[in-house]
Amino acid sequence: MTKIENGINTPKEVQEYFESIKGNHAALRQFFTAMPKGGDVHNHLTGSAYAETYFELAASKGMFVNLETGKLYKEKPEDVETIQLSKDMDDLHNHRMALIDKWSIRNFQPYKYPLGPDEYFFGTFGLLSALTSIPDYDNVDSLNNLAYLMHELKGRAVRENVQYLEVIGIAPIIPKNCFLDEEYEKYDNDLKGYIKKDDYTNTFLTLRNIFNKFEDSKEADENANRYLSFVQDLENKSNTFKNYLDVHTNDVMCCYQGYAVRGLEPIMVFAQLYVVYKACVKDNGKLLVGCNIVAAEDSEKSMMYYSWHMEMFGMLYEHYSSVKTSLHAGELTMGLVRPEHLTYHISQAVLKGSACRIGHGVDMPFEEDSGFLHIMQINNTPVEINLTSNEFILGVKDSEHPITLYHKAGIPIIISTDDPGILRTSLTEQYTLAALRYGFSYNEIKQFVYNSIKYAFLTETDKDALNTKLDNLFIEFEDNYLITYQPSEENFGGRTD
Ligand SMILES: [Zn+2]
Repeated sequence: MTKIENGINTPKEVQEYFESIKGNHAALRQFFTAMPKGGDVHNHLTGSAYAETYFELAASKGMFVNLETGKLYKEKPEDVETIQLSKDMDDLHNHRMALIDKWSIRNFQPYKYPLGPDEYFFGTFGLLSALTSIPDYDNVDSLNNLAYLMHELKGRAVRENVQYLEVIGIAPIIPKNCFLDEEYEKYDNDLKGYIKKDDYTNTFLTLRNIFNKFEDSKEADENANRYLSFVQDLENKSNTFKNYLDVHTNDVMCCYQGYAVRGLEPIMVFAQLYVVYKACVKDNGKLLVGCNIVAAEDSEKSMMYYSWHMEMFGMLYEHYSSVKTSLHAGELTMGLVRPEHLTYHISQAVLKGSACRIGHGVDMPFEEDSGFLHIMQINNTPVEINLTSNEFILGVKDSEHPITLYHKAGIPIIISTDDPGILRTSLTEQYTLAALRYGFSYNEIKQFVYNSIKYAFLTETDKDALNTKLDNLFIEFEDNYLITYQPSEENFGGRTD
């Protein structure tokens, strides 16, 4: 029997059975449906709920939709043609089907869409913003909508044998002047001016001054309190709905990451990050456990300010080193940006931004420093792999994907979903694709499962509890497999260890 990291013995019969089904998509799906999967630590709240749920919510609220674009509206807009959604509307089925196609990648037809799949994917979030945006922290409607989506994620996790969700939840709501009052314009101009001139020293000093202003701002502190309280309310509320899956949503442990939106103005990004960090410190690792940066990495502002976003993370790390970060980095590939911009995003996230984990890391083969993988390995920085997401958004799959480079270099791999609702996938399917495409052994797969807990942003006590739970679930799962698939083995009596 092979020992793996968490001290679990894996029966060789299960390993052999797994080897025998590795090329069979359906058999792998069956196997991974039953297998305990630990945590999904890279999934976005609004991208993880399925379009059916969005339709259900929108119809129950009598919202309006433009059928051509798929954009939802709370109130009937004057200048846009819309129809009102309801459960009793005429032609319910056809409208519902058409909107599911608009709100996900189902039936995506590239020749019908003028821009690329990446633009289509990121555009989907905008269509649904009438249901997902938060105008202010007191907005009960927003809280209820997001809690309903969260409830769906939890129910599915329980049914999928997932023990932990680390959800990339919501961004803080930042006032227009970013806590800088009348000095906002000056700082905004200075920051952008120095960045444009490539003046590192003055940009850095300006950022430092802004950080000090944030530190002195009572408004920023109060914003962090209210942001944290919204996340806590969201979590509590999400356990109060009844569900058709008939599961107890408390059966899955849930934590949240806050985030900044990288396509916004740099001061706004910094203010969002600051509030998330402050709120994480206030919560002391209980529910809001980390910070991320999201949105299209190839957009104009994301690219222009990438290095400075990493400097912001670095500066915040200096002051609040207890806050954990997972950074979307290297969600790029050949053809999406100029080749020279594929060479530094992951290394900067680790070295400048002090990322605890890397999300995606797809452009790794283009990193300028070919020894960088070794640095990641020494740092023990894991990578979150999202196969369906990378295939749809970037067109990267099979041997183009760097997952095997990471694995061979000894980088801990975590399998995750990214946006399973929009992408019409699940964690089960992500494990299936990992085994089918890259031929990982059962023990390697099992290590990925344990990595999802080992590198989660949880307290050691919580990790211990989840590891014990996982150990027991694996014993149960493997014994079931022995019974089901080795019935004629005379010596079968479960494990002997
Ligand atoms: Zn993501």
